[in-house]
Amino acid sequence: MIDSMLQDTYDQVLRRNPGEPEFQQAVREVFESLEYIQGRHPEYNDQGILMRMCEPERQIIFRVPWVDDQGTVQINRGFRVEYNSALGPYKGGLRFHPSVNLGIVKFLGFEQIFKNSLTGLPIGGGKGGSDFDPHGRSDGEVMRFCQSFMTELHRHMGEYTDVPAGDIGVGAREIGYLFGQYKRLTNRYEAGVLTGKGLDWGGSLVRKEATGYGAAIFADEMLKARGSSFDGRRVSISGSGNVAIYAIEKSKQLGGIPVTASDSSGYVVDENGIDFELLQQIKEVERGRITEYAERRGNGARFVAGGSVWDVPVDIALPSATQNELDADAARTLVKNGVQAVSEGANMPCTPDAVNVFREADVAFGPGKAANAGGVATSALEMQQNASRDAWSFEHTEERLTQIMKNIHHTCLETAEELGRPGDYVVGANVAGFRKVADAMIAFGVI
Ligand code: GLU
Repeated sequence: MIDSMLQDTYDQVLRRNPGEPEFQQAVREVFESLEYIQGRHPEYNDQGILMRMCEPERQIIFRVPWVDDQGTVQINRGFRVEYNSALGPYKGGLRFHPSVNLGIVKFLGFEQIFKNSLTGLPIGGGKGGSDFDPHGRSDGEVMRFCQSFMTELHRHMGEYTDVPAGDIGVGAREIGYLFGQYKRLTNRYEAGVLTGKGLDWGGSLVRKEATGYGAAIFADEMLKARGSSFDGRRVSISGSGNVAIYAIEKSKQLGGIPVTASDSSGYVVDENGIDFELLQQIKEVERGRITEYAERRGNGARFVAGGSVWDVPVDIALPSATQNELDADAARTLVKNGVQAVSEGANMPCTPDAVNVFREADVAFGPGKAANAGGVATSALEMQQNASRDAWSFEHTEERLTQIMKNIHHTCLETAEELGRPGDYVVGANVAGFRKVADAMIAFGVI
């Protein structure tokens, strides 16, 4: 980094957070963008904003004991990083996956601060989760785990304090068990304390679809800004979870041809366009594997074991699986095959080297904190509905989501333009997200 203040702070972040490569990567990416505003905001330096922004307000780590179906005691580790509450209560999902550790939760929480700021809605940033693996666990085991997890977490939550939601491994089933236990422990029907709830008990229409829809809408906006569109274009999507499924549906609605989906066993290619309803049935309802999609679909769909989903030639890519899933080699293959736009449905799925490959090739690149903000934005809309004891229609909620995504796209472009980096959505998203939080922190004094 050219700026010595940024470099010194980053060195300090490295020293204080050893062994957390994903967190360090997320901080570095934001700091590289902040180079473009250094010198413009001396107050940020005077007020120690950089280091304060990197240090979570509170980090909670706890034991989660539960009993499996065999009667054996299992121990997992629970986390909640309450990162920044300058703009509103801590807001962000819970991830249940064996890879979860403090560094992963901090990277996700750090990203969430700026993502939530970009939505324009009053939500701070936080993230949590556990190294619990729901795969292969019975409903009873998942319930007992969720109840134990919430028995500790509930004392740190509240609709004005911290509002968790889902992320990888946490969907409607888990949110149900978590909300039930929160309600029981507190004796309060505090609907706005968790989002991603079921539609019969305080959930919002479009929340389930929102992250995937938003990532496709963001891609559409980037294409339109370049005089292009989804029309007849091939789209590759990685993953087959909540984000991927609805990114596929929206890509189709926008006129594209989504040709891939994947899971940890490999990927499917369906030249006729992924059958969204079949994929939804297999992954969301039956909790099955992606291989079954190719078997049941017939019709030229094929399963490729292992390998890289990014080898499939496409015009638009929506990485929607997990962090660092798309590296520089994959990015070069996509560029060679003529990709025009990449919109991150997952959090940080492209490595920094991959992002540079896209930059150099002038591919429109939408970073996760802008492109996948539709999920958390619709969570904030769910909180609005809970606060007013109301429930909006699908059409109205989707219209709000679409407008929010268009606004985020516009803010990123405008900010990038102002900083002399036209079309650089990374710099636009980081700087626009950061400034709003930093200005609020300055208004509050050194706290
Ligand atoms: N986990 C999602 C994200 O990465 C959604 C968080 C939320 O709805 O609070 O933004």
